[in-house]
Amino acid sequence: MDEDRYDYIVTGGGSAGCVMAARLSESGKYRVLLLEAGPPDTNPWIHIPLGFARTYVNPRINWMFETVPQPQMAGRKLYLPRGKTLGGSSSINGMVYIRGNHGDYDEWRQRGCEGWDWDSVLPYFKKAENQARGPNEFHGVGGPLHVSDQPSTFELAEAALEACVRVGIPRNPDFNGAQQDGCGYYQTTTSNRRRWSTAKAYLEPARSRANLTIQTGAHATKVIVAGGRATGVAYHTGQGPRVAHCRGEVVVSGGAFGSPQLLQLSGLGPAGHLQDMGIPVIADMPAVGGNLHDHFNVNLNWRINKPITLNDLERSWPRKIAAAARYALFRSGPMASNGIHAGAFARSDARLERPDLQINIFEWSTLRRGKDGVIPHPFPGFTLMPVLLRPEGRGTVRLASPDPLAPPAVQFDYLRTEYDMRAILAAIRLCRDIAAQQPLKSYIVNEVTPGDPVVSDDELAQFVRETGVSNQHPTSSCAMGAGTNSVVDPRLRVHGIGGLRVVDASIMPVVVGGNTNAPTIMIAEKAAAMMLEDARG
Ligand SMILES: Cc1cc2nc3c(=O)[nH]c(=O)nc-3n(C[C@H](O)[C@H](O)[C@H](O)COP(=O)(O)OP(=O)(O)OC[C@H]3O[C@@H](n4cnc5c(N)ncnc54)[C@H](O)[C@@H]3O)c2cc1C
Repeated sequence: MDEDRYDYIVTGGGSAGCVMAARLSESGKYRVLLLEAGPPDTNPWIHIPLGFARTYVNPRINWMFETVPQPQMAGRKLYLPRGKTLGGSSSINGMVYIRGNHGDYDEWRQRGCEGWDWDSVLPYFKKAENQARGPNEFHGVGGPLHVSDQPSTFELAEAALEACVRVGIPRNPDFNGAQQDGCGYYQTTTSNRRRWSTAKAYLEPARSRANLTIQTGAHATKVIVAGGRATGVAYHTGQGPRVAHCRGEVVVSGGAFGSPQLLQLSGLGPAGHLQDMGIPVIADMPAVGGNLHDHFNVNLNWRINKPITLNDLERSWPRKIAAAARYALFRSGPMASNGIHAGAFARSDARLERPDLQINIFEWSTLRRGKDGVIPHPFPGFTLMPVLLRPEGRGTVRLASPDPLAPPAVQFDYLRTEYDMRAILAAIRLCRDIAAQQPLKSYIVNEVTPGDPVVSDDELAQFVRETGVSNQHPTSSCAMGAGTNSVVDPRLRVHGIGGLRVVDASIMPVVVGGNTNAPTIMIAEKAAAMMLEDARG
């Protein structure tokens, strides 16, 4: 057997890539190679739910990208954390388990993505899932991905949820059930109070398979295309350059930034841009790296009068030691949960068909959260984070350099349209309305950001431009569709190139109205099933 020849090569061992490697190798019939640029997921903070504040800025397991300066965001470069380890961003994310709105997938189908309507994707959500509450029409058990309830209710979250009810947002016990609207506790991708990344869920049980090779520290630099077909992958390791050959298919799963970057490095992208970079054009594909979008959010912070927040934990060594002991001994206490216990889905305009706003309720507040870390306020506080779920702005992922190891140039087009700004201003006002309701109001000392004097549309818009950030849900930069404004077809095959698929968050034609990890895992489950079906002929 030729040691460097595989049936399938998967580049990127993230949310999608781990699913692909595990499912494609499951039958034992196919030799599969998984190439992951980052190291194994051995950093202990990865596995502790509250540890995600630590992995947020760790360059060993996080790409720590930035956008190029964003003119519409006061010229700032926005911080873009991305997982660089087995499990990818599912190893550093907030673990909130949300699928989006049923109508989001029906919209994909309406846009020409045959087989991706809600009824068609639900079986793959269920196949992936091991739901702690048990099975029902919407949920599955026995799948690799553990989905659990929060360890308990929380005083401040309860107060915020009661306040949401008072502004007309009803309680919803399951955002992933019959309907998404409402407020309630989030479920998380955790098991026994440990993070359940796709590396844990899918790769760990598959590791010992003789037909699966997992190569970490392996940065894919080029998909080799010969005669219109992907025949292998060039990659870089600490020991130098390597090539792996493929007799079946190459699956690009590098995420919304990594996948379009790799395709462009391989000569698949907008011809003019590739020529500017000195890269030989194999196929002029203007859609590669286009259509990038992301949820967008601001943070509204309040100071409160009771030391019950994670800010108070961070400031006190005795509390930290007690929290560590509780977690080590009983898997309970503040370290056992993600600190984003609850949230709400609402509309910026009652006439909208689907919620366009998500409000995350954080039991902590931050002075700063960015490339230099997560710095909590030196007093008890909480955050309401309104998230714009259906942004209209569309950006790009381009090569900043022909060097395959250099970060890509990411340009978002946040707040491009009148709707984008109007909706986020409506969201800020809704959050203030919630904070003005009892029982939440009785905890509040004052609004810290934007602060009471910031009231008019112009003042709030300035606040949005000066402080708004990526919600870390970039998608759609290798969009699925039928025409030339898409990159892959509904079976996720790259248009016009044989033996090459893209499988990750980048293929979403439009971002779903909710967090993106569970939808990405669904995409990979469905993609693996399609590939195995195609292989059977
Ligand atoms: C800080 C943060 C918080 C988040 N919170 C939530 C949340 O609470 N809930 C939720 O649902 N979603 C959340 N998300 C989003 C969610 O995690 C992502 O949408 C999802 O993980 C994307 O999966 P992916 O497979 O597309 O990409 P990734 O999981 O990012 O995987 C890409 C993988 O490819 C590797 N790679 C990239 N380029 C190369 C290359 N050239 N060669 C080899 N390997 C390469 C990367 O190292 C990575 O492992 C969050 C994301 C972040 C960063």
